[in-house]
Amino acid sequence: MRRCLIMFAVALPLVWSSGAHALTPAPTGVRKVRIAVATFSHETCTFCPEPTGIPEWEYYGPPVRGPEVLKERGYIAGFVAAAAEYDGVELVGILSPRDSKGGSSGSWVTREAFEKYAGGIVDDIKQQGPFDGVYLALHGAMAVTGVPKPEAELVRRVRAAVGKIPIYVTLDLHANEDSELTDAADAVFIIKRYPHYDEALQGERALRVMLRQIRGSYRPTMATRKPGVLTPSVVQGTGTSPAMEIMERARIWEERRQDVYVSVAFGFAYADVPDIGATVMVLTNNDPGLAARIADDMSAFIWRKREEFAGKKLPKTKEGVALAIAAAKAGKTPVVIADQADRTGNSTHILEELIRQGASSFCIATISDPRAIEEIKAKANVGDTVTVSVGGYQDRFAGRPVRITGRVEALRAYERFPIVAVLRFGGGNRVILTPELHQVTDPDIFAALGIDLSTVDIIVLKSRVHFWRGFVEDGLAKAVFQVDAPGLGPADVTTIPYRNAPKDLYPLVRR
Ligand SMILES: [Zn+2]
Repeated sequence: MRRCLIMFAVALPLVWSSGAHALTPAPTGVRKVRIAVATFSHETCTFCPEPTGIPEWEYYGPPVRGPEVLKERGYIAGFVAAAAEYDGVELVGILSPRDSKGGSSGSWVTREAFEKYAGGIVDDIKQQGPFDGVYLALHGAMAVTGVPKPEAELVRRVRAAVGKIPIYVTLDLHANEDSELTDAADAVFIIKRYPHYDEALQGERALRVMLRQIRGSYRPTMATRKPGVLTPSVVQGTGTSPAMEIMERARIWEERRQDVYVSVAFGFAYADVPDIGATVMVLTNNDPGLAARIADDMSAFIWRKREEFAGKKLPKTKEGVALAIAAAKAGKTPVVIADQADRTGNSTHILEELIRQGASSFCIATISDPRAIEEIKAKANVGDTVTVSVGGYQDRFAGRPVRITGRVEALRAYERFPIVAVLRFGGGNRVILTPELHQVTDPDIFAALGIDLSTVDIIVLKSRVHFWRGFVEDGLAKAVFQVDAPGLGPADVTTIPYRNAPKDLYPLVRR
């Protein structure tokens, strides 16, 4: 049987840890620390048409539990790997829903789904407990019908079930949060990079600091600020400023002061929620004054950067496509067009414009269109020529369906999709059709579907920043154009018809 926490604290005095971010593993033979681990993660595009209910959450299977939870990539992988360095740390996977169908093209999470999984997490924690700590790998931009701040609500419910044990949360930097979350949780860690390279690192930090708290050498105190700045995802890439400068300032604070963790969420502009916009969360070791000072500094810095951070003028469809074609003709191939505003993945504006301007050797990766895939499957085999209408119907900005006569180049399973289709048409053009939104972030899909990228001049991706990892950072793309075609994720957030967002955010109100 487990011994009580007080006995444990006596057995292990404060010398157990050393330094801000480096810890000495626990001596052997200590009593077990049991930590519950769960994930419930969604980035909700509330302006998108299809709600995210239980069928969407369970499209890829029922929730996972036990060891399956601990096999999750990203945040949980970091948490698990760090825990393995210590003797006597037992992690217990708590019921966790899988990724939902359509991911962030999904609209409002239904109340029923939230109740089912939040309730399931709390019940499972009670059933598998008692625990010394709880780790929740969340996203932060979940929007639930009738639950204004779902992550804070989940933590409050877990708190009610477990009492005063550490509850730690990791978040995506697209989180929309405020002090309700930090009031409920002991500590929050947010990734600092977009593309999101540091998920495992933040999971690892959560584990190490939680163990210090359990063993008595860290008393988390947090300060949270809302700078009042709302930004579109397309300007949030941390390879460019001001996003890069903001995160660098956070890292400088972490290195200047021991035991300090500075988190910034840039926020997710496409969720119409009351805690939308940037958030600063600063964690210190029992130093609320320092937490407040750093949070004020970071918040003021983001405010000073508001004009360049809140938006930049991107080329519209016609201009962006013309620029891409000119770059391709100048030999800068492959050119990447990021169709950054398309949140459902079904938009045809760029496809139509490429055809209209006579482009050749382009590949649209991808258009979400389950109907077209079914039609192709019913009418044709690989190698056959088929005529189908593609895209242009899943949201009001998706444009028009585009009629294509082309040869079926591939019709096969790909990753989580049971079937995708590749149509080849015109002068070496291709469109890849997927059954739901698929954001291509690296070139793997082309090889998997038999597409030789050396024959492709223009690649069109439904991505804002994540494509940077596989197309820009390794030098593949010779030119990149982020294009603001019509879509539910516009670069100009002042065009978004918010109902629940505060009205005094910059740039909704200019100050
Ligand atoms: Zn994100």
